[in-house]
Formats: sequence, structure tokens, C-alpha cells
Amino acid sequence: MIDVSDLVVSYGAATALDHVALSVARGEMVALLGPNGAGKSTLANTLAGLLTPASGTVRIGGRLALIPEGRQVFPDLSVADNLALGGWRSGLRDPSSVYRLLPQLAELSHRRAGVLSGGEQQMVAFGQALMSRPDVLVVDELSLGLAPLLTAKLAGHLVELNRTLGLTVLLIEQNARLAFDLCERAYVLESARVVAEGACAELADDPRVAGAYLGGA
Ligand code: ATP
Repeated sequence: MIDVSDLVVSYGAATALDHVALSVARGEMVALLGPNGAGKSTLANTLAGLLTPASGTVRIGGRLALIPEGRQVFPDLSVADNLALGGWRSGLRDPSSVYRLLPQLAELSHRRAGVLSGGEQQMVAFGQALMSRPDVLVVDELSLGLAPLLTAKLAGHLVELNRTLGLTVLLIEQNARLAFDLCERAYVLESARVVAEGACAELADDPRVAGAYLGGA
């Protein structure tokens, strides 16, 4: 569903992705880990078509939705209007399927998105992405700035979507524990390159990965 090979993306003279290869099969939920500045958001934005690669190939086998880093909702619009904008391209007008999946959004539908809590805004961003009826969802830092309970709740929704609807997910995370809990497979990006990849169970046993991402566990 996502197939990236030999991808190079630069900002002027600075190379943010250096010959990166990554693939996610239909129905898989795969994690992308890495420290600040590794190039994770650059990859997300390139997959979403917001950045143009210098070289390499990006193939997406269906409709892709990105939940960008930092809960980018339209603060002056209501939750319902934010969702409507999410459905603009797909033509989905009726948000009831999204309200069924994320019932909290139905209760908040008339509230202005800008006054919601961080977790609620992340839920709106989630709902907005689902309104575009994606085949593949790229989530850039689900847990960033969220309380552990809220993160767990959103993660639960993500797993449910993956299991029940077969939604393909690329989960970009700094929280390796969360990513390893949710995903079978992961890639580790450091300084613009993929430095490790494989089954989460094996990566968790790799001393370099465990030392850097699991607090030495
Ligand atoms: P974080 O976890 O902190 O969000 P990241 O892994 O998502 O980090 P990116 O945001 O992709 O990393 O950034 C990768 C590199 O590219 C960094 O060195 C960053 O400073 C640089 N960079 C990102 N956006 C731009 C830009 N618009 N112009 C120039 N350099 C940029």
C-alpha cells in the first residue's frame, strides 16, 4: 500500500531523507521511530504529496490521509465543520459513520475546535482524516503532548480501525513502547537514514534500539 524506494528529500542543501526505503502492505500497521530531526515528518509530508522528492520513488496504492503533527484543526470552525472539510475531497457529507467510531466527536460537534483540549483536537484531526475515506492512514506523532490515558484511547481506536476495517496504518512515533505495543513491524530513522527495521519483538531485543528508545529496557 506504501512503497518507498531510494527516496531523497532535501531542504536546500540539507538532506532530510537519504536513500530511504520503506514498505507497508495492505492491512498492516507499521511503526516509524526516530529522534527529533530524524526526518519522520519529512517522510510523512512526502507520502502525502506535500513535498517533492529530489529522487527516488513513492507509490501509494490507494487513498492516503495524513494526521499531521500538532493537531492541525481549523480552530475557528466547529467540530462538525472541521469534519465536513475532511470529507470535501471524498464527497462524504454525512459524518455519522465517523461519529459511530468516535462517539465523543458527536457530543462535541457544535463546539469550536480551537477551544477543545489537545486530546479532543487530536480526535477531531483523526475524524477529519477518516472523513476522507482513506485506505491508508499516516499518523504523525499520535502521542505528542497527550496524557497517557488519552493516547491509549486513541491508540485503541486506531487498532480497531486496522482490525475491523483493514485500514493500513503507518504510525510515526517517538514513543517506542507505544509503537511496539501496537505494531508488528517497525523502521528506525536516524539522521535521514533507515538504521534498523524488522519485527518489533526483535527490535526491542536489539541493544542499540532498546538503549536509545526503550530507556535501556
Ligand atoms: P520531530 O520528531 O522533531 O518532528 P522529525 O523526525 O519529524 O523530527 P523532520 O521535521 O522531518 O524531523 O526534519 C528533518 C530535518 O529537516 C531536520 O534537520 C529539520 O531541521 C530539517 N527541516 C525540516 N523542515 C524543514 C524546512 N521547512 N526547511 C529546512 N529544513 C527543514
